[in-house]
Amino acid sequence: MISAININTSSCEEFIDITSLIRQKVKASAVKEGLATVFVPHTTAAVTINENADPSVVEDIISALDKIIPPNGNYSHAEGNSHAHIKSSLIGSSRQIIIQNGQLKLGTWQGIYFCEFDGPRNRQVWVEIRE
Ligand code: ZN
Repeated sequence: MISAININTSSCEEFIDITSLIRQKVKASAVKEGLATVFVPHTTAAVTINENADPSVVEDIISALDKIIPPNGNYSHAEGNSHAHIKSSLIGSSRQIIIQNGQLKLGTWQGIYFCEFDGPRNRQVWVEIRE
């Protein structure tokens, strides 16, 4: 089963916890043992898995990425959002999560994050659930 989730981001760079949205897709699929693939069809956004207990963790990831890949760096791409393209490639456009007993098998502190690097925009996340 493949489905799409619409996400409206509200700032230029932010991580949005989409774990509960993916859990809903797993539940709706009724798949008990399988895989969930989470795919972001954008060139200036990404998806990652990291700590969802302390929100300062994702803030630190965003600020560390900005130090390595500054928004106002010297880039060739005329659109002015090269930093966002580079961050998108570094973090990656997909993640796969094991489904066991009808549940996402995530570590205790793990959450799934949509990563916006060139917002605010209307975005999509595609999810495939399979046995
Ligand atoms: Zn661009």
